[in-house]
Amino acid sequence: MAGTWSVVRCPACRNCHGIRGQPRQCPHCGQSLPATTPIIATADSSAQLRIEVALANTPEELRDELRKKLEQMDEPLIASSSSSPRAIYSAIQKAVGEDMILYREDVQIILDKLDADLLVDDILEKMELDGTLVRQRDGTWLLLE
Ligand SMILES: [Zn+2]
Repeated sequence: MAGTWSVVRCPACRNCHGIRGQPRQCPHCGQSLPATTPIIATADSSAQLRIEVALANTPEELRDELRKKLEQMDEPLIASSSSSPRAIYSAIQKAVGEDMILYREDVQIILDKLDADLLVDDILEKMELDGTLVRQRDGTWLLLE
């Protein structure tokens, strides 16, 4: 699972930020980042990514202390109820329009918004097994409840 998230340093403004997949644009200065931008750290989860980005933007001599603080602070965030299956399910229900059609992208947006450390396919599969969703031939999903 290593390497799901990466931390890159913008060559223009020297600030670090987290990315998923290819580097695109620096959120600090707007510079477009080349695909060759070196990755300076990787993280398995968005929670860990936050720590790695904060550390990368901190002078080296302060990092050890900051890491300890951040790792302690992050515990309740990981267990946060906002990313519970129930919260995700109710967000999915809200995202579905009157036609009850769910798109894969909708689920990704919801997960990103809730900062949930889950895979879209895992959620869809679970809901399919629950009988909440039916996979349709065109790749969309029909919400039954
Ligand atoms: Zn920048």
